[in-house]
Amino acid sequence: MKRIVLVGAGHAHIVVLRHFALHKPNATLTLINDGAYAYYTGALPAAVRGDITPEQARIDVQKLATACGARFINARYTGFENNFANLDEAASVPFDTLAISVGAKSVPDGIKPIAKFFDRLRRWERLPAARLGIIGCGASGVELALALRARLNRNAKIYLQTGDGQVLPNAPRRVRDIARTELARARITLSKAIPYPLDDVIHAYAPAPNIAVRETLQLMEHDNIFATGDCAAFPNPLPNSGAIAVRQGRVLLHNLLANKMQKFRPPLATLAIMSLDSHKAVAWYGTDYISGWLPMLLKNWLDRRWLRS
Ligand SMILES: Cc1cc2nc3c(=O)[nH]c(=O)nc-3n(C[C@H](O)[C@H](O)[C@H](O)COP(=O)(O)OP(=O)(O)OC[C@H]3O[C@@H](n4cnc5c(N)ncnc54)[C@H](O)[C@@H]3O)c2cc1C
Repeated sequence: MKRIVLVGAGHAHIVVLRHFALHKPNATLTLINDGAYAYYTGALPAAVRGDITPEQARIDVQKLATACGARFINARYTGFENNFANLDEAASVPFDTLAISVGAKSVPDGIKPIAKFFDRLRRWERLPAARLGIIGCGASGVELALALRARLNRNAKIYLQTGDGQVLPNAPRRVRDIARTELARARITLSKAIPYPLDDVIHAYAPAPNIAVRETLQLMEHDNIFATGDCAAFPNPLPNSGAIAVRQGRVLLHNLLANKMQKFRPPLATLAIMSLDSHKAVAWYGTDYISGWLPMLLKNWLDRRWLRS
């Protein structure tokens, strides 16, 4: 039997786990993750606002793996060598095929690991007038700034660093205008450089992916090793997106089981939905956009559907 080992409970691997058994494969499946739970960043702003608890924003991947007939190993992966996946403080795991989906490399004071982020949030909540700086003015930085304003007391000062750029550089102009209006209403200060001293700085951006893959998601020099999601450097650069990682998961499942490899074809555009508060969101697809309660309804439905998986 072919031994397939999945490292990291990234989005693509959740897809593989959920659909693996349906293919009745002549293979065994093992999931290695550094914890029994995987937090879903799409629901992170809702958990920061307090609309849901942190526990409701995570998937019990140990339970999911077991329910899908896979073995689960709670350990930190450190690399591979001669068809063995090496782990921190645990025995190496032999594989015939390895798939890596460990997310973007963590940055100091970043949002991930999310369990640690919630510890920081509880500390900020106790401060009478927290001073926080957010570096990164893409969708995750903006969404997080607005969510923090909803959570922290009104004396909190929140700065969003724009550098030489602007908020949501990759979104349509009207969406940028909406974001700027919401940030002003929430008294988030946009500044070229965040003013120190601060109680904490949050790095809300992901570093560039570091595992080069082919269009088939195979590593450049290893036919039996795959990488997907934010850790995989695709031939033409892709945005960090759970939605893209989910699509890669379908191709990965096929390639783990079949002899003839499929290529991952990135979509021309993906639907982005960014919550503005507990009731409103803005969604955009290419140059089209919509804001208000409707995209928020859609976001809540999509997030719940994913978490229920
Ligand atoms: C605030 C915020 C909001 C976002 N909202 C959205 C959104 O609405 N829609 C969207 O599409 N994208 C969103 N994103 C982007 C999205 O989070 C990422 O692109 C997405 O998580 C892709 O991650 P992944 O599947 O590669 O891995 P991840 O989801 O990061 O999962 C990686 C897994 O691997 C585990 N792991 C890591 N290192 C190791 C190791 N060494 N050994 C073992 N296990 C390991 C981790 O614990 C984790 O379980 C958001 C990001 C942020 C920060």
